[in-house]
Amino acid sequence: MNKVIAVDGPSGAGKSSVSRIVGSRLGFLHVDSGALYRIMTWQALKRGVDTSSPEAVARLAEEVSIECRPENGAVTFWVDGFRPENELRTPEINAHASKVATVKEIRAAITDLLRGMVKFGPLVVEGRDITTAVFPDSPARFFLTASPEARARRRQKEEVEKGIASQSAEEVKKSLLARDEMDSTRKYAPLRKADGVFEIDSSELTLEEVVEAVVAALPADWRKPKVFSAGI
Ligand code: C5P
Repeated sequence: MNKVIAVDGPSGAGKSSVSRIVGSRLGFLHVDSGALYRIMTWQALKRGVDTSSPEAVARLAEEVSIECRPENGAVTFWVDGFRPENELRTPEINAHASKVATVKEIRAAITDLLRGMVKFGPLVVEGRDITTAVFPDSPARFFLTASPEARARRRQKEEVEKGIASQSAEEVKKSLLARDEMDSTRKYAPLRKADGVFEIDSSELTLEEVVEAVVAALPADWRKPKVFSAGI
């Protein structure tokens, strides 16, 4: 099987930035599994599905077809020829995504999609259940954490940078903690630190330091050999 770096952790722990940089440094495609749960949530809200009804949400697993395409270092997701991006980052989707993610059929469909992506090449996959349920046998599994304050600060900064900020830091923190709670207590594939994963608390670390820690903990033959140019 192709190599998979698996990265889990709560919202705002820095998984996306770290995974993206590690991926581009090593030539591994970045996979944001949270975007898949957000797509299902976006579709649920668009279709007027009651997200507190597991039966209604489960039907989306059959009805929504997500196309996965590797593009510019990442696996991108498309629904009916459209690639949703900022549509997925609204407070409304933040509020409903964890509920949608409790539904077994949705998790099974997304797990299948994620496992199928190994055909694209080596991957760095981030999420909540990647180290425990999707790729539990990967030799490169990481759990990123940070204090709630650091996480809320980062999330809000990200939203400001993308021009989609609509909540105060306090509101961002509240929504993030509510999602953590639901993600860690759900029945199927809850967020938890698996045995044997490499844990990094990034509260006091720079992004570069976290990236270095991840790369240093990878199996030696996964790290790209340094290229020395001749004649200098
Ligand atoms: O990572 P992100 O915040 O975009 O994820 C949105 C939601 O999707 C999470 O709060 C969680 O409920 C769900 N999720 C999940 N399993 C994953 C990735 C995300 O349950 N592997």
